[in-house]
Amino acid sequence: RRKEQLCSKDSLVKILRWHFRYPDFRGMQLEAIQAVLSGRDCFCLMPTGGGKSMCYQIPALAKTGIVLVVCPLIALMENQVMALKEKGIAAEFLSSTKTADAKNKIHEDLDSGKPSTRLLYVTPELIATPGFMSKLKKIYSRGLLSLIAIDEAHCISSWGHDFRPSYRKLSTLRSHLPDVPILALTATAVPKVQKDVVDSLQMQNALMLKTSFNRPNIYYEVRYKDLLEDAYADLSDTLKSMGDVCAIIYCLERSMCDDLSAHLSQNGISCAAYHAGLNNKMRTSVLDDWISSKTKVVVATVAFGKDVRIVCHFNIPKSMEAFYQESGRAGRDQLPSTSLLYYGVDDRKKMEFILRNSGSKKSQSSNSQEESTRMSLTAFNQMLEYCEGSGCRRKRILESFGEQVTASLCGKTCDSCRFPNLVARNLEDLTAACSLRQKGGSRVFITSSTDAIVGEQLSEFWNRDEEASGSEEDISDLDDGNEVVNNLARSKGQSRLGVNEKLDLLQRAEEKYYRNENTNKQRNKVDKNAISDTLRGA
Ligand code: ADP
Ligand code: ZN
Repeated sequence: RRKEQLCSKDSLVKILRWHFRYPDFRGMQLEAIQAVLSGRDCFCLMPTGGGKSMCYQIPALAKTGIVLVVCPLIALMENQVMALKEKGIAAEFLSSTKTADAKNKIHEDLDSGKPSTRLLYVTPELIATPGFMSKLKKIYSRGLLSLIAIDEAHCISSWGHDFRPSYRKLSTLRSHLPDVPILALTATAVPKVQKDVVDSLQMQNALMLKTSFNRPNIYYEVRYKDLLEDAYADLSDTLKSMGDVCAIIYCLERSMCDDLSAHLSQNGISCAAYHAGLNNKMRTSVLDDWISSKTKVVVATVAFGKDVRIVCHFNIPKSMEAFYQESGRAGRDQLPSTSLLYYGVDDRKKMEFILRNSGSKKSQSSNSQEESTRMSLTAFNQMLEYCEGSGCRRKRILESFGEQVTASLCGKTCDSCRFPNLVARNLEDLTAACSLRQKGGSRVFITSSTDAIVGEQLSEFWNRDEEASGSEEDISDLDDGNEVVNNLARSKGQSRLGVNEKLDLLQRAEEKYYRNENTNKQRNKVDKNAISDTLRGA
């Protein structure tokens, strides 16, 4: 009976409101909390920002005993403990950064029969030390260990993008502390990683809670680039047409960050580069300017946190997980946002080269080296399928995380669903470009929404379309794509056309053209294999 009372929704909501001032639980928080309070293991998959920490903070307040929280980063522990203390909740962390005095105090409390600490945060390294494990066992034998929460649990899996050897040691927790429920929490898990986490931690009959990874307010788009300068111009146009928005642009290399940032700045965009090559002072000043919105766009090689309207990958990311995490920084405030990825054939080759050769640096046996190379290539292939496939982008993302997706989920919130013909033709162009390049062709292909290209394509449709009429016909006489688009803008009383306006125009012209030509079906049949084959031959 006591247990039932403990787990009732009413009493848990009361705790939430009292301590955290939130009106109600979100997503699957309540299910997770009820599971662990009833003594059951639980695997909790929630996107970043989903509210994972509440899933172990509430149990710490609902039940006597200590909740042990394993956390990979000292900074993270510090933050959480500070926030809890501000709310009057007794939380502590043990790390190498603490003074001996401070540590002693915590240990004294833990050794007492009635510890006041509700939550104890530790690193996985500490768990691995024999001294600490015997301390845990002592607390456990007194019935004072109520839950073990493992944050960023995907770090335990060598399949994940963020494997940490120290996490492996956590597999001994179950045998040393058999009756304590384990709560594994992560925002990143492909099905293989999930299984790995559950197996490694020896979780039993775990309640598997998974929140959908869908980010409905992000519009997904891939553009194909050839010449760097064209892609620079395209990106610069895109940013300008979106207005003065905040953006992150991810690049693979520092030199490209500097280069691209300089280019964007020259075009009047408030922009800075951010990477490990800058000295501390520079980095802090870039960060400060960005947080205070003095700088709107940051071109970076590394993660960068703040709410933005558009995340752009100027090079192909190394895995779907990395892509999801990074693009997910767009639209955290739930407002409409964009993920734009530039795909370059050269980038693909470069990344494949890097992945094939990165294993050799690690001190591993050649077998496990091969294995890890194979794994990173598999992960990269998934990313390529996203770029080179003609289907819905959102569907591909979600399916790569093991979610079942209905055809109607996306609506028209990715380029593929919104402009199927355009995407299909882009892919055709890409294939053609690859084979032409093999034959020694140089500048063969760019697909983007720059005025020049959109204009060229528009007039191409209109020229070939006998039914073209009115202003469209006049404009179709122009050779220069820039002029075509400028005239169109002028005829609408605008100084320039937005990206979406251009794409809409293209789609209409294209649909009309193909309706006339009756080749719609044929066009839609773009085969990804054709691209891969061509590339492989290259
Ligand atoms: P995660 O660890 O999943 O990235 P956090 O635990 O840091 O997410 O929570 C993200 C934010 O959401 C925090 O500011 C947290 O206080 C807030 N939050 C968590 N649960 C709720 C809730 N039930 N209602 C409102 N806000 C919540
Ligand atoms: Zn779609």
